[in-house]
Amino acid sequence: MQLESNQLAKVYEPQRFEQHWAEWWIERGFFEAPARLTVPGRTVFSLVIPPPNVTGMLHIGHMLEHTEIDVTTRWHRMQGDQTLWLPGTDHAGIATQMVVERSLKETENVTRQELGREEFERRVWQWKEQYGGTILKQMQRIGDSCDWSRNRFTMDAGLSRAVRETFVRLYEKGLIYRGAYMVNWCPRCHTALSDLEVVHVETQGKLWHIRYPVQGLKGRTVTVATTRPETMLGDTAVAVHPDDERYRDLHGRTVLLPLMNREIPVICDTLADPEFGTGVVKVTPAHDPNDFEAGQRHNLPQIVVIDRNGCMTEAAGAFAGLDRYEARKAVLAHLEAEGALVKTEDYALNVGQCQRCRTVVEPLVSTQWFCSMKPLAGPAIKAVEEGRIVFVPENWSKTYFEWMYNIRDWCISRQLWWGHRIPAWHCAECGGVTVAREEPQACAQCGSKKIEQDPDVLDTWFSSGLWPFSTLGWPDATDELKTYYPTTLLITGFDILFFWVARMIMLGLECMGDVPFRTVYIHGLVRDAERQKMSKTKGNVVDPLVVTEQYGTDAVRFALLRGAAPGTDIVFSEERLTSSRAFANKIWNAARFIFLQMEKLGVEHLEMASVEAPAPVAIEAGGEVALEDGWIYDRLSDVAAKMERAQQTFRYHEAAELLYGFFWDEFCDWYVELKKLRLQQGEHAQEHLSNLLRVFECALRMLHPVLPFVSEELWQRLVKQGAGRPESLCIAAYPQANPAAANPAAVRRMGLFQELVTAARGLRADQKLDPKQRLDGIVYPHDEPTKELVFSERAALEALTNTTFSIGEAAGARAEGASRSTPEFDVVLKLSGAQADAMRQRLEKEIEQLTKVVENTRRQLANEKFTARAPAQVIEEMKTKLADYETQIERSRAALGEAG
Ligand SMILES: [Zn+2]
Ligand SMILES: [Zn+2]
Repeated sequence: MQLESNQLAKVYEPQRFEQHWAEWWIERGFFEAPARLTVPGRTVFSLVIPPPNVTGMLHIGHMLEHTEIDVTTRWHRMQGDQTLWLPGTDHAGIATQMVVERSLKETENVTRQELGREEFERRVWQWKEQYGGTILKQMQRIGDSCDWSRNRFTMDAGLSRAVRETFVRLYEKGLIYRGAYMVNWCPRCHTALSDLEVVHVETQGKLWHIRYPVQGLKGRTVTVATTRPETMLGDTAVAVHPDDERYRDLHGRTVLLPLMNREIPVICDTLADPEFGTGVVKVTPAHDPNDFEAGQRHNLPQIVVIDRNGCMTEAAGAFAGLDRYEARKAVLAHLEAEGALVKTEDYALNVGQCQRCRTVVEPLVSTQWFCSMKPLAGPAIKAVEEGRIVFVPENWSKTYFEWMYNIRDWCISRQLWWGHRIPAWHCAECGGVTVAREEPQACAQCGSKKIEQDPDVLDTWFSSGLWPFSTLGWPDATDELKTYYPTTLLITGFDILFFWVARMIMLGLECMGDVPFRTVYIHGLVRDAERQKMSKTKGNVVDPLVVTEQYGTDAVRFALLRGAAPGTDIVFSEERLTSSRAFANKIWNAARFIFLQMEKLGVEHLEMASVEAPAPVAIEAGGEVALEDGWIYDRLSDVAAKMERAQQTFRYHEAAELLYGFFWDEFCDWYVELKKLRLQQGEHAQEHLSNLLRVFECALRMLHPVLPFVSEELWQRLVKQGAGRPESLCIAAYPQANPAAANPAAVRRMGLFQELVTAARGLRADQKLDPKQRLDGIVYPHDEPTKELVFSERAALEALTNTTFSIGEAAGARAEGASRSTPEFDVVLKLSGAQADAMRQRLEKEIEQLTKVVENTRRQLANEKFTARAPAQVIEEMKTKLADYETQIERSRAALGEAG
């Protein structure tokens, strides 16, 4: 990829070199982090990746997250910190299991049940080996500066050991227990389904109103409405809202359940919505998730009337043995006969179906594993309260506290085959449970050999909750843990604040006795140009790899970062991409010019002893430096200081704007332009070139964390390899603010010079004069410093404005022409007779037009009918505009007077 000479390709084509550097960085091991501290006391920066699903493909959200992480990581690496970005993937239980099941169905037409558990697991591993690396390859392509030698997977042997260790410890502490829980059950597939495996289909159903007589209040009844009348057989209460006045007389009473003749209590619970139906609802804790929870709140019995085949149980009395839909018909017929069916109406409802076989899902109560959260939440709340973990933006800590204070126990078991199998063995003899780190030979309670491992696996988030320390070798006391734990920073999205971030904090404190990270930076969402969320259905999804191919990775990174202000979503538009690519192109073109000058002057490379912050090379005896050199080195130092602040406060948008402003507006538009002149003039050419190269080199280092590819490509060509030069820009020193480079005098002089040039250019633009036409002008300096500047930099001033200037002495007797005044100087462009006429005409026309507008506005404001009706804001705006117009007229009149 690298061309033989440092002659650059004419056009910036990132496709020609990005891949090369991405591979080379990894090959040379620049991102690898040693297990131990290399130098005692060296600052460590460590961060673990939010592990993407092993089935995943890089999407624009990853691209943003990884760009922010990469910028920060590269910056720390260039600061000289011992830096680790640890990569890896999550086994993503349900997502992966479903992908592999689908592919087995398509290719071999077999189900996982047909294969059996062991064979299926083997197939998933096979699939993982073959396809699981896609997202990692994509991350390498975009230059993520991870230590790839430390790539981890949540099902690795080491991480699985950490999972088992944690489970056993929590179990032994009494924090893991078994309990009843409601799951989605498919009566055909005979399996519990996760919410992800249930599809909700809008269906036209019916709402049946059933009357229950109240006990002890003759003639008083309540009417409940249900879409599933067969479940009434399992009712164990009816509920009314505690504040519903209509039912105050029922508090503490019971009703008689029709058909079953069972007396059930009236409970007060917010489950009943006074606005919905009659305000009374039936409660069936065994067959509805909301009722299940209400049942737990009120200690209601669970009566199971539907079994795992979807048939009615013995508890359904006369209806036992019927299929649930036959039972529905029978129940309705009986209610009708008893006169308990009040009315029937059409009703649209969402019905959950099994994603695989489309059978209607039955909510069933089953035994699941739980983790007690209250004891774990306490220390995790304290860690954030005490500032041992800081959220950025800060308001996320409020969201965190709210959730943590109301935390509920975590159902950690899943009825899947792909995942960490629960290390618990059930005894067929005594029914006891043996929980162990290693597979036990016998029941711990009775010694029986008839034990079998629990079929369930752990929730995926259980293993990712251990990620910051399991990836570093825990439960062994490794060097890595000593060096890199607690990690410095976590960068992630708000959507997994509870699923993942909170659990890492709790489990880190529990297992390691210390927080998993010091700072959590929560990034925003990437939205399209219209600020819409990206979604497949809207068709506005941007594929990061497609735009990367098209615009270059650097441009995509830059476009994302420019919108990445903390606490806001990121607007990602074509326009942002185009202007970001233009920026990379600008850097390329500056390099082309610089390399051309090197060739002209026979300079092959920038020789450097070190890459510390540079100081200007003097061009005159006595250490005198050129106007632009004194200025630019001060600017470099200032930008370095501001970059550091932006970096430390995660103000990525500011970092991007700083670089853009410095490189484009200051370096290219002024510094390079001035150096172009100096080199043309030929005097002190070597010194001028030397400064240009040093500043450019420093700018490339400053750009690197944000635009790693183009900066490396150019830096490798610019700086001579060998002594003093790091092998790659990615391990060179980041420019530091340098107090010695502060040069307020040079900044003032350069500012004045810029004002002079801008004033002269502005005048020319005002008069609509051809930029190529050479003009004559006069500068009247008002003070000594300005006078000195104009004398010493007259050639540069003339070249940059295409004007021949004389220097006027007295400000009183001024030449005629177009003019501008500042406190420091007046500048006048002399105009030919025709030019002056044109200017007069233009000014007169302008005054005439503006006068009309002013008169109109005054008339409107004097009109009371108008001012009475118009909003105050409109009136205010009109007044402001009026004042502006009047100033403009005055200015034009003055110019007209001067034009003679
Ligand atoms: Zn099914
Ligand atoms: Zn036993």
